[in-house]
Amino acid sequence: PKDIKLAVLGSGRVGKSAMIVRFLTKRFIGDYEPNTGKLYSRLVCIEGDQLSLQIQDTPGCGCVQVQDSLLQAVDPLSRCVQWAEGFLLVYSITDYSSYQSIRPLYQHIRKVHPDSRAPVIIVGNKGDLLHARQVQTHDGLQLANELGSVFLEISTSENYEDVCDVFQHLCKEVSKL
Ligand code: GDP
Ligand code: MG
Repeated sequence: PKDIKLAVLGSGRVGKSAMIVRFLTKRFIGDYEPNTGKLYSRLVCIEGDQLSLQIQDTPGCGCVQVQDSLLQAVDPLSRCVQWAEGFLLVYSITDYSSYQSIRPLYQHIRKVHPDSRAPVIIVGNKGDLLHARQVQTHDGLQLANELGSVFLEISTSENYEDVCDVFQHLCKEVSKL
């Protein structure tokens, strides 16, 4: 099977871990360890293609825990970015500052990733918390248009299909490279 390496980046508490676990297990689990930089590996089948999928979860700062001390010279975020082939940049619609962190993350990817075409999807999560919305849908769309990436607003807790769409879309984009 084809190897696909994805990284999920964004501020703390936006739902990165919840999204990954939801995609891989269908289950929405309320709380995760906030500081894991866990790597998930799974064989998946997307539109008839067998893929060996690796998904790097990251803690709030967008860093990953460094396992190999020899590689600590490069900062963890850059290592993660260079390792991955496709990216989910996640913010929460209930947290404007998490939205503001997307642009610098995007710029960092374009700065350090060797392939300028590496696909990026911007995800506005927690779409179910409309009463607490701080980021409008058009804010997300506008940013994505400007950066030339795909935008999806989803609810990890309420809509499993949406979460699948996000990962499947990104896998397809990476496969095309
Ligand atoms: P991370 O720090 O980005 O990995 O965020 P987590 O996955 O740990 O999620 C942070 C909190 O947001 C947890 O309490 C989750 O249950 C909650 N959460 C994640 N996604 C959603 C969602 O779509 N809707 C709601 N209402 N809560 C969510
Ligand atoms: Mg997490």
